[in-house]
Amino acid sequence: AKRRGRNTWQLFNPDLARQQHDRVQIEAQLRRALDNQEFRLVYQPLVALSDGKVRTAEALIRWRSPALGEMRPDHFISHAETTGDIVRIGAWVIEAACRQMAAWRAEGFALERVAVNISYRQFLTEDLPQIIADALAEHGLPGSALELEFTERVLIEDAPDTLHTFEALRALGVVLTIDDFGEGYSALNYLRRLPIHGLKLAQSFLQGVPGNASDVAICQAVAGIARSLGLDVVAEGVESPAQRDFLLGLGIRTGQGFLFSPALEPDNFAAFLRQTGLH
Ligand code: C2E
Ligand code: CA
Ligand code: CA
Repeated sequence: AKRRGRNTWQLFNPDLARQQHDRVQIEAQLRRALDNQEFRLVYQPLVALSDGKVRTAEALIRWRSPALGEMRPDHFISHAETTGDIVRIGAWVIEAACRQMAAWRAEGFALERVAVNISYRQFLTEDLPQIIADALAEHGLPGSALELEFTERVLIEDAPDTLHTFEALRALGVVLTIDDFGEGYSALNYLRRLPIHGLKLAQSFLQGVPGNASDVAICQAVAGIARSLGLDVVAEGVESPAQRDFLLGLGIRTGQGFLFSPALEPDNFAAFLRQTGLH
């Protein structure tokens, strides 16, 4: 009777029903969001850990849905991947970041580049290099003005065209970075084989620093691997001066996080840049 009771409860689990409803809602609203111009990009500065001056910016998507309110990417990117909408949304992100970058350059900010996040699904589309080439050309930007952040999933699933796509992107001059490094998989083998510029140390490892011995060890190991392979390392989720000092001790020079600044609307990013200066 107990078991049956539990099954019955599961069948009518209000949380599950709610989640299902949310999923359908989100997917329906997502379909229209791009045409309705409900997305915008905010920008988080990546700064030199030593003096806090801006090095680059990461574009992060925001969605204000008339039906659902302000939605964080963690709540809708996975749905957009399921439906495939991420491909069109991702192309919009690339174009919008390039447009903003060109506008900042026209205003005289010598910001070296802006980074965008590329989802796995988007990476698999054949025309990603073309979409990027078009966006750069449209806004008169060199490839070096754009950085692409991929997660390890792209490396590990190793679709037949992965190397080819990386080479095509590299040929455009864009900067290629592995995001959330160390989080999902161990991709060490791929680091040797693919033309990558740098790694972003997964935020979760920094959380226990400097108190947690195993987090400290992992950060040291990632910094060591990157150094031996000649890869840049960026630390994200830097929230305290103790974390900053720990990273500097490892020879990591660039970071982003609430210690310096959250993601900012474009005008506020420009103000931050004026205040702190470029590195
Ligand atoms: P991510 O690429 O790892 O981005 C970093 C996330 O950490 C951002 O959350 C940022 O606001 C947050 N963050 C920054 N500094 C700190 C800090 O000091 N402490 C903590 N706890 N968090 C910090 P956000 O903007 O909510 O984005 C979440 C994720 O959504 C991103 O993680 C990325 O995977 C995805 N995402 C965001 N924008 C896009 C996009 O345009 N395309 C795709 N495909 N994914 C995106
Ligand atoms: Ca990222
Ligand atoms: Ca990340």
